[in-house]
Amino acid sequence: MKNFKTSYLWILLLFIFSCNQEQLSIEEVNSTEQPNLYSASHQSSLTTGLKPIGSGVMMQAFYWDVPAGGTWWNTINTKVQDWSDAGIDAIWLPPVSKAQNGPFSMGYDPFDYFDFGEYNQMGSIETRFGSRTELTTMIDNAHQYGLNVIADIVINHNSGGDSEANPYTGGNTWTDFNPLSGNFYRSATDFHENNVHSNDSGAFGGFPDLCHHQTYVQDWLWKNANSVAKYYRDIIGFDGWRFDYVKGFEPWVVKEWKNEVGGFSVGEYWDSNVSTLDWWTGVAEASAFDFACYYKMKDAFVGNNLNALNDNMLWKQNASKAVTFVTNHDTDEIITNKILAYSYILTHEGYPAIFYKDYEEWLNKERLNNLVWIHNNLASGTTTILHVDDDEYVARRNGNNGSGLVVYINNSNNWQERWVETNWSNTLIKDYTGHSSWQPVTQGGKWVKIQVPPKSYSVWAPN
Ligand code: ZN
Ligand code: ZN
Ligand code: ZN
Repeated sequence: MKNFKTSYLWILLLFIFSCNQEQLSIEEVNSTEQPNLYSASHQSSLTTGLKPIGSGVMMQAFYWDVPAGGTWWNTINTKVQDWSDAGIDAIWLPPVSKAQNGPFSMGYDPFDYFDFGEYNQMGSIETRFGSRTELTTMIDNAHQYGLNVIADIVINHNSGGDSEANPYTGGNTWTDFNPLSGNFYRSATDFHENNVHSNDSGAFGGFPDLCHHQTYVQDWLWKNANSVAKYYRDIIGFDGWRFDYVKGFEPWVVKEWKNEVGGFSVGEYWDSNVSTLDWWTGVAEASAFDFACYYKMKDAFVGNNLNALNDNMLWKQNASKAVTFVTNHDTDEIITNKILAYSYILTHEGYPAIFYKDYEEWLNKERLNNLVWIHNNLASGTTTILHVDDDEYVARRNGNNGSGLVVYINNSNNWQERWVETNWSNTLIKDYTGHSSWQPVTQGGKWVKIQVPPKSYSVWAPN
């Protein structure tokens, strides 16, 4: 993690340097021409560049059953500037293309990968979230503010095909796909079972299960110039990928996709087993959501046993491949002490994601913004757990050259205080959350006494 952060810093510095160079040449051109506002603003987004992904915090920019009616892309569009200002570096969108349930679908029943709300099929022109123009306008705006935009890619299964006689099953199956975009027609051979084999690592419900071994499917999904992956990257403007239900197919699919088009990639491998998650990230060469961390936090914060935080998690095994989260659109079980869970993921290693509803509706936004700031500015280096019992947890981020922090989480109903060993000798420190007003000076041996309010957390670093 140490080298991880340091290299991002260098990339950022290089970005700033190269932006300044390009800024000069743009001004030179503009000074001899009529100003063209459109190209000037577009140029500025190119020269500013996107934030290095993982340098900040991801925003999951939706929840299950966001308002229907085609307004969601516009809603997101009004928020991207504030999110960027708060330290968000990427937004994860729900699946953007037309699905079987048309204007009501959250997108996980994909029908036409190339209908972004512009063809009249499945009961509507627009998707639940809006029109193609509203989507690309929002993505361009997010780019203006340096945000990466992550596409939710559902390629395990499809939905909404017509019935056809299936030579492999001997019966009729819903595998005849005739999308109005005219791209990626599918039929029985493209799904399991077929002439290649009977199944892959998993199917989802009764949905037709795509066969990624078929060259035709590979061509349309990631290989060809007009594939889903390249169209989403080059025409729509996506910068990264969140792969849905990766238990349903083999990890080489994600690896091939990523090798073909690049971009940050994270898989939804819904499993609490650290070894399995670690295996998947290795073979897929992609990140995974840290479901191990999620379930340990549930034990810790809902089960009122912070000792669970001592157990293994993906971020402890492989921090650079772990996307940590407290809630997502599928699961919201850490309903008590949720801000404590956020104080955990936003001070620890891994790339943390914040859930839209937690940020915009359920939790205190200033508290979350403060933790995002702490994540982006103080939470560096490896992690050492300093103390843990059933209701207290103290850990140190070891930082680089004197940076880092000490986080103290308290799940009891009383103020707690504790002597801890920091990174700093003879240094005035303070609680960056403002929960404690203490400003102690560390001893020569780096020890100091810190405190934390009931059901709360404090984060200590040099003043
Ligand atoms: Zn753009
Ligand atoms: Zn197959
Ligand atoms: Zn499958």
